[in-house]
Amino acid sequence: MAQIRAADSFETLAIHAGQDPDPLTGAVVPPIYQVSTYKQDGVGGLRGGTHAGIGSGPGRWIEGYEYSRTANPTRGALEECLAALEGGTRALAFASGMAAEDCLLRTICRPGDHVLIPHDAYGGTYRLFDKVLTHWGVTYHPVAVSDPPGVRAAVAEHRPKLIWVESPTNPLLSIADIGLLAEIAHSAGAMLAVDNTFASPYLQQPLVHGADAVVHSTTKYLGGHSDVVGGAIVTSDADLAARCAFLQNSTGSSGGPFDAWLTLRGIKTLAVRMERHCDNAAQVALMLAGHAKVSAVYYPGLPEHPGHEVAAKQMRAFGGMVSFRHAEGERAAIEMCGRTRLFTLGESLGGVESLIEHPASMTHAAAAGSPLEVPADLVRLSVGIENSDDLVQDIRAALG
Ligand SMILES: *Cc1c(COP(=O)(O)O)cnc(C)c1O
Repeated sequence: MAQIRAADSFETLAIHAGQDPDPLTGAVVPPIYQVSTYKQDGVGGLRGGTHAGIGSGPGRWIEGYEYSRTANPTRGALEECLAALEGGTRALAFASGMAAEDCLLRTICRPGDHVLIPHDAYGGTYRLFDKVLTHWGVTYHPVAVSDPPGVRAAVAEHRPKLIWVESPTNPLLSIADIGLLAEIAHSAGAMLAVDNTFASPYLQQPLVHGADAVVHSTTKYLGGHSDVVGGAIVTSDADLAARCAFLQNSTGSSGGPFDAWLTLRGIKTLAVRMERHCDNAAQVALMLAGHAKVSAVYYPGLPEHPGHEVAAKQMRAFGGMVSFRHAEGERAAIEMCGRTRLFTLGESLGGVESLIEHPASMTHAAAAGSPLEVPADLVRLSVGIENSDDLVQDIRAALG
């Protein structure tokens, strides 16, 4: 019996959705069901669903527990929580964000289909399209997702099966008007998928704006502690969800129970973490905007950011990611990445600790020489939840 109600607020859902106390012991946190297989009560008599130890959640979607590639109660708890947070009806949890993307794309697309992708998409997403899916006859075309007339023209020209959107994009923080792009996609018979990794469901819920599916790298803000790799698909389209679940089970890309547990643990503090990420990032962005060694700052919270108004309309706040260009060029950008004290030089983002990186040679190296190449003097910050003055001071000192 679920404790939560549909009208519960985000913070409450983050802590309780899919996570009723264990009926057997009263444990307030879902147990880690570190198990591969389940006893059957007679052949085909699967246990599970409502009495499986984690409330009514996973039982809505599965016949019972049979084998953990197909369904696992800890993963099911995470899936129910993610569905609630995104305002969807079903979520699937994967071993990584890329596994989730691959599952969604191969569920929707067939050889001969075409996809529009952001011209500044995450490097791994670009690599999946360019180096993997093209070999299976799925083609792509990069567009500026922040330019709806351009997207409309590309839809008319390429007749895509799917529009793939990130907002904010990685690493240039451009903003897509999700509601408008959903209209453009649907009026042409296409679907809209949104990679919501940068915003997290706390800041933005794409399904509410009309997207057909959301994907996440739960490795980032949802997990939030740089201690687990995972991914998710969330949708309110029951047929799409069932087809994704079929492919997930057929290919074995589901995440493990301990990973699901760590992600659930992270999600409990998502709302308070995001508030601090946003406040700290805004302060860092303001400092950068007034710094002589910075030629451009990309942060949707700055009023001069071209996507500011759309972001203000569809997001609760502007996120924890800030990118900027070093006025003295590539060498200076690379050198400053090695000079910070608190910002750790590393890939990934969304953890409590601040990270700095040089996208052109790190996260986005796969896009070198392509239309998705990023500026060589670009530096990307994942602003953590340390003290904001300390963080501002650290970046200022590294700029010199
Ligand atoms: C990290 C990331 C991914 C890939 O997720 P993994 O968990 O690393 O596989 C996809 N999209 C965005 C925007 C990301 O930042």
